[in-house]
Amino acid sequence: MSCKCDTYGKNSKGYKITLCEDEMPRKYYNILPDLPTPLDPPMNPGTGKPAKPEELEAIFTKEAVRQEMSSQRFIDIPDEVVSALFACGRPTPMFRAHRLEAYLKTPAKIYFKHEGLNPCGSHKPNTAIAQAYYAMKEGVQELVTETGAGQWGTALSYACALYGMKCRVFMVASSYEQKPYRRIQMETYGAKVYSSPSRETEYGRKLSDANPEHSGSLGIAISEAIETVVKTPNSKYSLGSVLNHVMLHQTVIGQEAKIQLAKEDITPDVLIACVGGGSNFAGFTFPFVADKIAKKTNPDIIAVEPTSAPSITKGKYDYDHGDSAGMTPLLKMYTLGKDFIPAKSHAGGLRYHGMAPTVSSLAHDKLIRAVAYSQKEVFEAGMVFARTEGIVAAPESCHAIKAAIDVAAECKKKGEQKTIVFNLSGQGQLDLEGYADYMAGKI
Ligand SMILES: *Cc1c(COP(=O)(O)O)cnc(C)c1O
Repeated sequence: MSCKCDTYGKNSKGYKITLCEDEMPRKYYNILPDLPTPLDPPMNPGTGKPAKPEELEAIFTKEAVRQEMSSQRFIDIPDEVVSALFACGRPTPMFRAHRLEAYLKTPAKIYFKHEGLNPCGSHKPNTAIAQAYYAMKEGVQELVTETGAGQWGTALSYACALYGMKCRVFMVASSYEQKPYRRIQMETYGAKVYSSPSRETEYGRKLSDANPEHSGSLGIAISEAIETVVKTPNSKYSLGSVLNHVMLHQTVIGQEAKIQLAKEDITPDVLIACVGGGSNFAGFTFPFVADKIAKKTNPDIIAVEPTSAPSITKGKYDYDHGDSAGMTPLLKMYTLGKDFIPAKSHAGGLRYHGMAPTVSSLAHDKLIRAVAYSQKEVFEAGMVFARTEGIVAAPESCHAIKAAIDVAAECKKKGEQKTIVFNLSGQGQLDLEGYADYMAGKI
């Protein structure tokens, strides 16, 4: 294929690998038909039987439900969504972290895919745009959701603004206080934002009456959003992670990454991403996992979680609710229990008790593996990255950076020239308080 971007890619060989518009993926990759162990179905919390599509449609858009249960390997991306993704900065560049490699004195090569360069600063618009588009097509007037650190709420507010829809966001109380600028960005896009637990829902009132200082959790905020959707006509719930349809929207990341690596004749040995609910990890790695399942390649694929919410490394693989009140369907996943409240941390996007069923299934089948790091070592890695590569990464993404640095150090010890590729899920310019706390020795 010849286009200007190819030439540009060649001139910058080894530093920045770019793609052009006509290389953007036109289909989502759905891993469901390729999973070695078929996924256990979501269960209706009321009946204890597999959830029927019409039951799920009480909460989600029809298209989200159709995609959730689809066994089609590839699903067309609507042209309007491709255009919106293009306008939002896709395809995203891949960089080689030369300065980080030099600092670490490692023989390993380190590359990263940068998902933090769009107006929202994270990978979340990839699914927000798709979900808002399908909702708009179905005549939905309002999308309701929860948000942890605020990246998901920001992305959905942005997408609702694009399609002229209302947006309501329940923001975990600890982040609402820690990250006022994310709330302001959501409000700037026209969203209504509430600190969760809020006074807006029965469940929220119950929890805040019992504890006015409640720091909240994603599980609680999801319950509040769902209660709101059930009570508000013409509204739907939108989830930013965990579910199959969200994972597949994110596979534009990994599909692009595969093309970018192929352009430079690179076969990755190690692929790394952080995991909260699993969406940036799934989006980045699933197109590569497909090749691993087909035994074409055998990369080491690492999911990185915080020690404060270690669902894969410490959780149980079992059916559990996605929310705290027990309103969502039961999902078979690695979980710390729906009532688990992770310690406050600056990586709000990773404070979730469960893990995507698809990611859980692959971890259970040992096609991928998980590691967990403490907040301190994660920020230490973030500082090294900022001072070598010049990027202040989101605290969530610093988990992936930490793992990449550890693998690179291992390569140095063993004299191995591996190629490490990680996903930089977002930038951290609205997370500076975490860096400030780290520099002040408070973490
Ligand atoms: C939301 C978020 C995460 C965690 O969510 P996943 O669904 O696991 O990707 C990670 N990084 C950033 C920057 C986020 O905004």
